[in-house]
Amino acid sequence: MPQYEPLALLIDGEFRAGSEGVTEPVYNPATGEVLAQLPHASAADLDLALEVSQRAFDSWSRVSAFERQQILDASVALLYERIDEIAATLSLENGKPFPEARIELDFAFQTLKWYAEEARRAYGRIIPTRAPNLRPSVRKEPVGPAVAFVAWNFPANNVMRKVAGAVAAGCSLIIKPSEETPGTAIAIARAMQDAGLPGGVLQIVFGVPDTISRHLLASPIPRKLSVTGSTAVGKHLTKLAADTLKRTTMELGGHAPVIVTKEADIDAAIAAIVPVKTRNAGQVCTSPTRFLIAKEKYVDFVDGFSEAISKTRIGDPFADGTQMGALIAERRIDWMETLINDAVDKGASVATGGNRIGNVGNFFEPTVIKDATIEMRAMNEEPFGPFALMTPVDDLDSALAEANRVPVGLASYGFTRSQAEALRLQDELNAGLVGINQGVVSMPEAPFGGVDETGYGSEGGPEGLETFLRTKFVLEKVL
Ligand code: NAD
Repeated sequence: MPQYEPLALLIDGEFRAGSEGVTEPVYNPATGEVLAQLPHASAADLDLALEVSQRAFDSWSRVSAFERQQILDASVALLYERIDEIAATLSLENGKPFPEARIELDFAFQTLKWYAEEARRAYGRIIPTRAPNLRPSVRKEPVGPAVAFVAWNFPANNVMRKVAGAVAAGCSLIIKPSEETPGTAIAIARAMQDAGLPGGVLQIVFGVPDTISRHLLASPIPRKLSVTGSTAVGKHLTKLAADTLKRTTMELGGHAPVIVTKEADIDAAIAAIVPVKTRNAGQVCTSPTRFLIAKEKYVDFVDGFSEAISKTRIGDPFADGTQMGALIAERRIDWMETLINDAVDKGASVATGGNRIGNVGNFFEPTVIKDATIEMRAMNEEPFGPFALMTPVDDLDSALAEANRVPVGLASYGFTRSQAEALRLQDELNAGLVGINQGVVSMPEAPFGGVDETGYGSEGGPEGLETFLRTKFVLEKVL
């Protein structure tokens, strides 16, 4: 039987219960069973965490980048030793298949390793002087205590992208993972502390999200806010952070278009994109959603894609061969049904799927909606589920116009064998991430982030480290 991580707050280096004894249940999305009770932080707990985060920042920011890397490398080694136990927790609380949870963890650990190395290259610069006795220089410093709020869809990656960037840069961090998937973050933090991360550098709190965020963001102590979540919540938290002018990084919602041109290799495109659509049951910010297919290829693509995706093996995340697990909660099934009914009412048809599977756990068939038009809600609001919309387009101009129509811009995909078309796609897609002839657009050493209402600031790559640094100019007059 897979074991679930014991749940706790992490404050001042101690895994502990909330001081007022309030808890909430955490559910297994594949069975509906309660996994454990999650403690909530009280106002006093949050005040303590804030005070500790300042203290921890004061000491951690003075630890050399070299020594920070040693501690983080030891953390990576211990995390890999525990990967199967942590993957079991991730799978239990999130509903994704166990092998997929392991892949997510591998990415998260590689991210920590990469940031730990990169922090040793947080170079400033010496500026050529204007006078012989003046020495102008620029340095990079950790930005200050940081606070982060993250979504449940990648319980390890969403957390690690904040933790690795902050801690490698020399910041302390208070993170509030999702209350739906708390165990993975706790397991990661436990390994990092066991590997030598000083208590207080990384703290974890849970509670009513609105209460926690208002309390933490009202404090002048955090100097940095980083959010992974929906655009609506990101806008709200940005406003709260404005009162104390915290720097912000916003990794928010997407609505990824997939352009399949008449020059595309249809079979290769289907083989590349179907597993990306079913990954985490479509609950991925970069999940391919609006398929804009050259009219010459439309029938073949829709038929081929529908047939391939309908063969997805759905079920118990721990069973051999499962390719797609459960949605996170009942509310996501309701959302799938709302979007499907709306699309069908407005003239679309269901090419495959469209139904809940069974009545235990939150399973839903991969669904393909044919002949989608922009009046349909799903073409404008993020489905965040195993849901693909197919639309025929006349040419690349109209495909690009539709791809860039929505106010968000995270991932965009294009499939073509024409290099001229591939260049146009790279140049003209309004997005932070572009995949050409393949559907994976993230790696630890590359910047990940969106444009417009998907937010700003990157995670990963030198750009991700930069968001946890501030710049100081020093001009010394030599006496
Ligand atoms: P969400 O915005 O509801 O939650 C994100 C975080 O904010 C969670 O910690 C949550 O507890 C907290 N939160 C929720 N409501 C809050 C409130 N009123 N006040 C303060 N905090 C609040 O997002 P979600 O539904 O959990 O996640 C799905 C969204 O996240 C999708 O839009 C998806 O595209 C986006 N996402 C974006 C990225 C990215 O890198 N751009 C990655 C993963 C997910």
